Amino acid sequence: MSFRAPKGTNDLIAQDAWGYLNICKQAAEIFFRYGYQPIQTPTFESLDAFVRGIGSATDVIGKEMFYVNSATSLEKLIAGVELKADERLALRPEMTAGVARAVLERGVVVADGPLVKLHYAGSMFRHERPQKGRLREFHQIGAECIGSAEPTADAEVIMMFIHFFESLGLPKERFTLLLNSMGDEHCRPAYREQVKQYVLDHAGQLCEDCLRRADTNPLRAFDCKNPNCQSIMAEAPVITDALCPECADHYAEVKRLLDKAGITYVEDPYLVRGLDYYTRTVFELQSDDGQGAQNALGGGGRYDRLLQEFGDKSIPGLGFAIGCERLLMALESRGLKAVMPSVQVYLAAASDDARPTVFLLADELRRNAFSVEIDHQSRSLKSQLKSADRLGAEYLVAIGSDELSCGVATLRSLREDFSVEFGLADAVQNLCIIMQKNKC
Ligand SMILES: [Zn+2]
Ligand SMILES: [Zn+2]
Repeated sequence: MSFRAPKGTNDLIAQDAWGYLNICKQAAEIFFRYGYQPIQTPTFESLDAFVRGIGSATDVIGKEMFYVNSATSLEKLIAGVELKADERLALRPEMTAGVARAVLERGVVVADGPLVKLHYAGSMFRHERPQKGRLREFHQIGAECIGSAEPTADAEVIMMFIHFFESLGLPKERFTLLLNSMGDEHCRPAYREQVKQYVLDHAGQLCEDCLRRADTNPLRAFDCKNPNCQSIMAEAPVITDALCPECADHYAEVKRLLDKAGITYVEDPYLVRGLDYYTRTVFELQSDDGQGAQNALGGGGRYDRLLQEFGDKSIPGLGFAIGCERLLMALESRGLKAVMPSVQVYLAAASDDARPTVFLLADELRRNAFSVEIDHQSRSLKSQLKSADRLGAEYLVAIGSDELSCGVATLRSLREDFSVEFGLADAVQNLCIIMQKNKC
């Protein structure tokens, strides 16, 4: 019997998994410079936490959730018995709600307390139609900065976001940072009404989805992919004209700080981001795929009311998430795929009596920080040399009866014209010296 991976999932193996590990490691290094510590939260949470955090009118909650059922909860569901709140579980579709739940529950974040900066990497789950760069189990790298409403926090988060992409070698000119302010609880409701009215006024020209969402989430019409909707919505009222003085000042200060820091951006008054919890600053990085199509590599924004939804404390925050699959595709298309580290030394046994020596020498070299491979399949010397080649080993040492009897073996570079003899008595010490010298 053979099995296939579930639709919308991917296997990352060797080279591809290196690519993923590499961007995670790079993110941790860059984010640490900005004071971020790692966080890991459960892959599933109470469904209610996501509904509360993300908003029931979003596609994520309405259409794309993966529910988690135990055998007993499934039995109850089949029998038509209603599940208790702690039995209603879902796989995380994004990380921010889980982080907010965790930092409040563990007392890491307190009202008027110190700033909390956290970053993460992991799997998220959305039941969408799978397509290139979009999976049902996908990976995100992200960061959350909780406890400051100041524009400097917004600017710093955006600068760190850009710094990360630049650190991977992605050329600046192929990317556009979109920036907008979505206002807050004082100015957004009125704006939302304006957009709702606009949508209803153009009911005949908009798609069904946009109309259906007019009541619950009219701003989503800005995200509609339907070209008709896009051209109608391009004439809709813009949030930047509707911001209250406080939001307008906040937005102006964020822009001023980014200007000073030399971060280029394009103001996009129609950038609304899909999730309900965003307030004020929102941003997105668009990449040009070289054929005129734009792809969002990541984005984020401020969520000053999200933590209030989870507790009774008003604690501001903001963050971003980066889609790893799309980022890896962008890196690959620009020839920036991670280089898979190769084996440094292949120790071949030229005769069976040399196998114990080879076995122990390999272990000693590994303890001295070298990556070493040996044969475990009773292969001939010829096949061992083939393996060394296939693994891309830098060096080869073949030890057989002759080497054992005279106590001298040869280290041979498989990449350049270089070979040197060394004494087997102090093999590790000798090899360390030779290989380090040859590196310099
Ligand atoms: Zn539409
Ligand atoms: Zn406002």
